[in-house]
Amino acid sequence: MNISENIKTFKQQLPDDVTLIAVSKTKPVSEIMEAYNAGHRIFGENKVQEMERKWQEMPKDVEWHMIGHVQRNKVKYIAPFVSLIHSVDSKRLLKEINKRAKNENRVIDCLLQVKIAEEESKFGLDKNEVLDLLASEAFANYKNVKVIGLMGMATFTDNEMQIAKEFQKLKDLYDNLKEDHEFTTLSMGMSGDYEIALKKGSNMVRVGSAIFGERNY
Ligand SMILES: *Cc1c(COP(=O)(O)O)cnc(C)c1O
Repeated sequence: MNISENIKTFKQQLPDDVTLIAVSKTKPVSEIMEAYNAGHRIFGENKVQEMERKWQEMPKDVEWHMIGHVQRNKVKYIAPFVSLIHSVDSKRLLKEINKRAKNENRVIDCLLQVKIAEEESKFGLDKNEVLDLLASEAFANYKNVKVIGLMGMATFTDNEMQIAKEFQKLKDLYDNLKEDHEFTTLSMGMSGDYEIALKKGSNMVRVGSAIFGERNY
């Protein structure tokens, strides 16, 4: 894998209004630094401890995005530095992020993770839960979090029609909420399906293996 070439190729290919999150989970700092030295600054991780360790080891102008499920008792570890949490999947989690952000004197940007896949997925809100959360009085009082959009993952399948349908569902919900809630960010698309996601209106893609190579767990 030529990580710096991959970064350059992606940046050339993606439209200017699409943000690339280089998903560096499981990858060592030495490899992430190859992307950094190619000019990339935005990285995505899915484990709190791993992200915190990499934040400590890497230059401080990196933007760290949390893309994986976050347990409430671990929010405090990332609250000082995380740039965007893509994976808010409950009101209780958002409440905890607000509390920890307040302690840090910050406002933390968040996305609500929406369940769009037909396959049984463990994490994410359904449409009604999203509407309920955004309309709740509690949410109106959270001054230290800003929900700037939605995130979703399509079913892992070769069926492109199904993937397109699932992304369309998320785009429709996003468009319905965008104006009232000043949404700016629709995070959808990974190595295998980002092209479909872009056609469906994504403006933030999370790409791991197509940049860093396959992961060994
Ligand atoms: C791992 C992961 C990605 C990146 O997956 P690739 O297929 O390697 O591009 C994107 N989003 C989430 C939520 C992930 O956990």
